[in-house]
Amino acid sequence: MNAIVYPVTEPDLRGREKQYVNEALDEGWISSNGRFIARFEREFASFCGTRHAISCCNGTVALHLILAALGLGPGDEVLVPSFTYIASANAIAYTGATPVLVDSSLRDWTVDPEHLQEALTPATRALIAVHLYGRPCNMRILAAFAARHGLLLIEDSAEAHGAKVDGRSVGGLGLASAFSFYGNKIITTGEGGMVTTDDDALAARLRLLKGQGMDPDRRYWFGVMGYNYRMTNLAAAIGCAQLERVQELLEIRCRIASWYIKHLQPSADRLGITWLLDTPAVHQVHWLFSLRVPQECRDRLMQCLLDQGIDSRPFFTPLHVMPVYAHARHHGNRPLQSALELGQTGLSLPTYTRLTEEDVSWIVQRILAFLEAS
Ligand SMILES: *Cc1c(COP(=O)(O)O)cnc(C)c1O
Repeated sequence: MNAIVYPVTEPDLRGREKQYVNEALDEGWISSNGRFIARFEREFASFCGTRHAISCCNGTVALHLILAALGLGPGDEVLVPSFTYIASANAIAYTGATPVLVDSSLRDWTVDPEHLQEALTPATRALIAVHLYGRPCNMRILAAFAARHGLLLIEDSAEAHGAKVDGRSVGGLGLASAFSFYGNKIITTGEGGMVTTDDDALAARLRLLKGQGMDPDRRYWFGVMGYNYRMTNLAAAIGCAQLERVQELLEIRCRIASWYIKHLQPSADRLGITWLLDTPAVHQVHWLFSLRVPQECRDRLMQCLLDQGIDSRPFFTPLHVMPVYAHARHHGNRPLQSALELGQTGLSLPTYTRLTEEDVSWIVQRILAFLEAS
């Protein structure tokens, strides 16, 4: 196998990351106290337009904190798309609640509102809207559905920092939202996560639970069982530097996507290549540039690209075929057919700030050459 010339992602740490981490080291604040934590939370809340942002140690934990703070547990059912990253469902299972897997839509790759109704039971308490691959869910419809059935609407925004619906950022479109700052996400802190919410009481509960349940007014007094889910000041220092450049980073990703589209467009219809575009209401972000190709070609295309030094990622395999969730309950007259189809036809291409238009053009030429010949 050739060496990888084009990875799928790499972090861009060319801002003040080093400076801020060194400041934290020099000042001796390396654990979960320190000025960068409060600053990162304040500035992230402002980025999302929410009243609160509560930092934590990764995105999975952010989801778990939300579900735990909302009191979900055994006997409760939570709707979640089958076509998502495993963490979305794991966080539900950690609380003892039951993930109920729902099909996705081929139109926008997110949970299909048309399949929610059939998944409802008297035990359904919440719905996790996963903004997958930077594409926000149809939040207008999901919010109306949640309101009609008394469900808690939670966002998994781990792949969609900065995406917008009707001009409002993800993170503030439900009761609470989880973000991830893993190394391959839109902005990173190495490992890290954040919960955003407008609800003051929920924010207080989230802070209580992430800090071992310690009473905020009485040190080392524990009224409830909590967790140590805190972010370090070192991670927050990186986060502050990343956030200073977040608009620039989002714009660069957007430009890279426009290069892919420009070079793919002329051959797309003929070769069966599709991708998602913004709509008047939905502004997506490009975590990765993701596209779909004919199912019979996808795996061979990825291998062919790899042989030429171009790494790519297949779309997530739906959770209902994963051994760990194969027995989870799911609904519908079909075996979550769209989720399966998405998982078998999609791939994500190199998307990181160092890429030039020549790089993108070269990658696209390799893709087109393969598909022309198949
Ligand atoms: C990355 C991711 C998570 C989990 O984030 P971690 O920081 O890796 O724990 C959750 N949901 C989705 C959709 C993700 O992509």
